Amino acid sequence: MKLSDIGEFGFIERFATNFDHMIADADMGIGDDCAILSVNESENNVVTTDLLIEDVHFLKNRISAEELGYKSLAVNLSDIAAMGARPLFSFLSLGIPKSTEVEYLDAFMEGYKQLSEKYRVPLMGGDTTKSVDRLVISVTVVGQCRKSEMRLRSMAETGDLICVSGNLGDSAGGLQVLLDKLELNTGNKDLIRRHHCPEPRIHEGMWLAQQDNVHAMMDISDGISSDLKHILKASRKSAEIHLEQLPTSQRLQEASSKYNWSIYDLATGGGEDYELLFTMNASDFERLNREFENRFSRPVHAFGKIVEGKPVITWYKEGVEMNPDTAGFDHFAK
Ligand code: ADP
Ligand code: MG
Repeated sequence: MKLSDIGEFGFIERFATNFDHMIADADMGIGDDCAILSVNESENNVVTTDLLIEDVHFLKNRISAEELGYKSLAVNLSDIAAMGARPLFSFLSLGIPKSTEVEYLDAFMEGYKQLSEKYRVPLMGGDTTKSVDRLVISVTVVGQCRKSEMRLRSMAETGDLICVSGNLGDSAGGLQVLLDKLELNTGNKDLIRRHHCPEPRIHEGMWLAQQDNVHAMMDISDGISSDLKHILKASRKSAEIHLEQLPTSQRLQEASSKYNWSIYDLATGGGEDYELLFTMNASDFERLNREFENRFSRPVHAFGKIVEGKPVITWYKEGVEMNPDTAGFDHFAK
C-alpha cells in the first residue's frame, strides 16, 4: 500500500490514538489545531508545529525571502488563533542548502521578526542544519488560553450556523496568478499578497473565544471542503452549505470572471486563506456580527448550518443540491 492510497489524514489516523494512554486527562494530543497542555485549574498552554518545504509549499523564485519568513510564522500563529489562544513564543528550525546566500537568510529572518513584533511573540530557540538541495522550514509556537475560552473542533452543536471570519479563495486566486504567470495589475497583486502574507486572526480568535455562543473553531489551511469535515468528524455532526452565501472579495470575483476560474472551487477547495471557521448559536448571530464589525471593521459571514447525521457536507446552490469537485488539499491524495 502506498501513502497516496490512504492520504495525509489516513496516515495520521493509523497512529493518532496510540499515545492516548500516556496523555493526562486534562491534556489533549493529536486531532486539533494545537495540542493542549493543562497548566493549572484555569489555564492551558497550546502548542502547534508546521513544516514548509521548498517546491511543496513555496517556490523560492516566486515568494520573496521576507514574505517567506513572515508566512512561516503566520501559518503557525493561525493555529494558535484557531484555539482562541494568545501566542507566547516561537521556535524555528531550518534545513538550508549550502549554496544559500546569507543575504537571503537575513531577509527571511527580517520577515519572521516583523510578524513576531506585531504580535509580541519572541523567537526563543530552534535548530539549523544542512539540507541537500531544498530549503526546509519548521516552526513551533506555544500559546496560552483560559480553559473556559478554549475552542475545539469537537464543540459544534446541532442547529449552529457555520461562519467564517473573512473572504475565501483569495489565496488560491493568488496562487493561480503566480502559476499561470498572469498580469500583475492591482487586483492580482492583492491576491498574491493574500497568498504570501496571510494575516493570522489572533485578535479575532481571542475575541470569538470569549463569546459563549461561539462553539467549534479552527483555521482554514486546506479549504473549507476539507477543513469543515474535521469539525464534523470531531463533533459527530453533518453540515449543509449554501455556495452562494460564501464570502468572496470583489478582486477575486473580477479575476474569476476575467480568467474563467470557478470561484466556488477556489472558495471551497483552494486553501491557505487562514481565516477562522467557526460555528455558533444562530440566535446570537446579529449581535455578534455587529460587535465583530465594530471591533474589526469587517463582518463575519454565515454560509451554512450544522445538522444531525454523518460527517459529510451537503452542498446547495440557490436551494438546489449539488456536488462540486471540492476535495480540499491532502498532501498525498492521488
Ligand atoms: P493543521 O492544518 O491545523 O496544522 P493538520 O491537518 O496538519 O493540522 O494536522 C491534523 C492533526 O494531526 C494535528 O493535531 C497535528 O498535530 C497532527 N499531526 C499531523 N502530522 C503529525 C505527525 N507526523 N505526528 C503527530 N501528529 C501529527
Ligand atoms: Mg489548523
